[in-house]
Amino acid sequence: MASHFSGVLQLTDLDDFITPSQECVKPVKVEKKQGKSVAKIQIEDDGSYVQVNQDGGRKKLEKAKITLNDCLACSGCITSAESVLITQQSHEELFKVLHNNKANATEQKVVVVSVSPQSRASLAAHYNLSSSEAGRRLTSFLKGIVHLWEIIYSCNISRIKLQISKFLCSFVLRFHFLSVLYSGWICYAEKTHGEFILPYISTTRSPQQIMGSLVKGYFAEQQGLNPQQIYHVAVMPCFDKKLEASRPDFYLNKAETREVDCVITSGEVQKMLEKENVSLNELEPATLDTMFSSVCGNEFLRHAGSGSGGYLHHVFTYAAKHLFGEEVKELTYKTLRNKDFQEVTLEKDGVVLLCFASTYGFRNIQNLVQKLKRGKMPYHFVEVMACPSGCLNGGGQLKALPGQNQKELLLKVEELYKAECSLSPEDDTHVAELYQSWLHSVGEERAKELLHTQYHTVEKMTNGLTMKW
Ligand code: SF4
Repeated sequence: MASHFSGVLQLTDLDDFITPSQECVKPVKVEKKQGKSVAKIQIEDDGSYVQVNQDGGRKKLEKAKITLNDCLACSGCITSAESVLITQQSHEELFKVLHNNKANATEQKVVVVSVSPQSRASLAAHYNLSSSEAGRRLTSFLKGIVHLWEIIYSCNISRIKLQISKFLCSFVLRFHFLSVLYSGWICYAEKTHGEFILPYISTTRSPQQIMGSLVKGYFAEQQGLNPQQIYHVAVMPCFDKKLEASRPDFYLNKAETREVDCVITSGEVQKMLEKENVSLNELEPATLDTMFSSVCGNEFLRHAGSGSGGYLHHVFTYAAKHLFGEEVKELTYKTLRNKDFQEVTLEKDGVVLLCFASTYGFRNIQNLVQKLKRGKMPYHFVEVMACPSGCLNGGGQLKALPGQNQKELLLKVEELYKAECSLSPEDDTHVAELYQSWLHSVGEERAKELLHTQYHTVEKMTNGLTMKW
């Protein structure tokens, strides 16, 4: 059968997803009956499923239907509906838009590209450049192919500030607080643990979707454009961000457009470079656009802490200072079950004041959920990421070259990411100015809508896989 997937997707080999016993693919619907009779399921030559009872009775089973809404985005399987979505949000689609821009002057769109710092680090490792140098050369490449007025930004905007205020609130209420970027974990939480887990999860939007509201709202207004006239592309380290961009919550009904029109992975950027027969090493570095980016001269600035956003680091240091008057310069992590499950504490006079954890990968996440369910969660705050090793190791990052070890590559990406100077969000004048000019002008309620999202419990699938979103 012809494949629906691009080469990038086929090459991706993710190894940490929900175990097969919990996979969402459910090929047949089995009616539950009272009693303990045992039956077998037999697959016929024509592919149909037949239930064979102990007494030899046979019953053809009805096929359950699975749609994109059933997908947990665990990367363990991909439905055909998801493949359609991925085709809509791919570098091929971006090329189509760029082609239309050239061919049709009356319907040209302004292309805005938001590049994640993780993607920059991944490209830098592949092309043996510093992360900032990769950013400058990528800017040059994108500006060369976009052929229209366009802007390249990094998603280094500080949603961390929002996490801090939410955490302080939850701390006062003695409430556990889970900070996540949108990923398969949210799908999993919505569909598997519903009402139980969602109140614990931070509603702060992910960097991608904050950029979405910034570009299609504030930026559009500043430039006198209708949001529909902008084609907003996000370069991200994973495929899950494509699902996130497609959520109804991020569709602007009035303007009839998505906040992020197309998500492409770091690996797809490499595909684009290959298609244009260009190597980042050969390109002249460009001057960086600075309107929303955290840059110092021609160098990018990163946030301190993990390569997945540094949420834990910032909330911990801020809470230590503002709740307990303690200045914490360095965080000392204690590794628990494995390197993807770590904790950090603030102690004073033998009393634990703060106890935070970072939990990466589905297996660790499932353990965390169990702790929460048993009422044995010792943490005030947990940074949760779906990928083992976090976003720098996202499924959409560039793969190791032949002969290169994947672990070594990850180390290199992490080093390049950390080599950039860090800047605390409180000290970032860009962020302060944006808060002032963008959010203060729209009012408190509207600002909340622009910076937060909501999660949805899914009605337990009682009839096949029917669900409400
Ligand atoms: S942890 Fe992985 S799935 Fe989650 S946002 Fe980061 S790269 Fe994507």
